[in-house]
Amino acid sequence: MSAPAIHSMRSTRSREVVLLALCAGLFVLALLGPRVELPAHYHAFADARAWQFLPNAMDVLSNLGFALFGVLGLLRLRLLDHAIAWTVNRQMAALFFLGLVLTALCSGYYHWQPDGAGLWLDRLGMVVAFAGLLGLAAADRVSDRAAHALALLLLVAGPAAATTAMHSLDQLAWVVVQFGGLAILVWLVLNKPLPGAWSVRWWVVIGAYALAKLFELGDAAVFEWTGHWVSGHSLKHLVASCAAWPVLAALRPSHRPNVQAEVGEVAAARTPSGDGVPAGGR
Ligand SMILES: [Zn+2]
Repeated sequence: MSAPAIHSMRSTRSREVVLLALCAGLFVLALLGPRVELPAHYHAFADARAWQFLPNAMDVLSNLGFALFGVLGLLRLRLLDHAIAWTVNRQMAALFFLGLVLTALCSGYYHWQPDGAGLWLDRLGMVVAFAGLLGLAAADRVSDRAAHALALLLLVAGPAAATTAMHSLDQLAWVVVQFGGLAILVWLVLNKPLPGAWSVRWWVVIGAYALAKLFELGDAAVFEWTGHWVSGHSLKHLVASCAAWPVLAALRPSHRPNVQAEVGEVAAARTPSGDGVPAGGR
């Protein structure tokens, strides 16, 4: 094995160790951290206007953005069937787009008649999208097995946290999943891409997510500022759905001209135990 290959293998392994340590730290925080209460009127959103038979119409309909990006992503993956092999990146992208469709359905259901059970369902949809997104970033920055492990961890920890939050009303575990997951995404993106990484503009994804959170916090204020035209929560749905755009754009054939050759060349290189891990990214 060449010296650069040994160096890269060590680098991949050290990233896996850091990722494991971050996840372990978040787990301890979720267990031992302070109680986080759900605000008293959490389910009372600023824009409760009905449209025809539809209550809370804007907050329900603004979920269509998630459905649109989710369906477009799944279709694009299907259309590029012969151009992109079923790499771990592609599995994670499929999970992400499927999660967006589920988010649209679950969030739409919640906002139709907001209550605790609906919020639990809303969070389950989000978890699937989040698992795919973090898995994709891990596949691009750490290793294929880290991507599988991280996605699986979120698919277990996310529903467990949402269920705990619903029954005990303590939101800590859910807050840790959401913000801890975002912190892990930022850490992943700060690492150099692996060979074969997708050219996702990750900082646009993170920026859209952060902006969406701000709109969520300013639900009523935005509703007032816009003269009751649109609320912060409706904008949150739209902006959060736009976080899918960089992932969708990375699937454009023009962005991935040598995908098949690339997949063949790097397939063995992406496992930490494999020989010949090329140094650095593109
Ligand atoms: Zn919502």
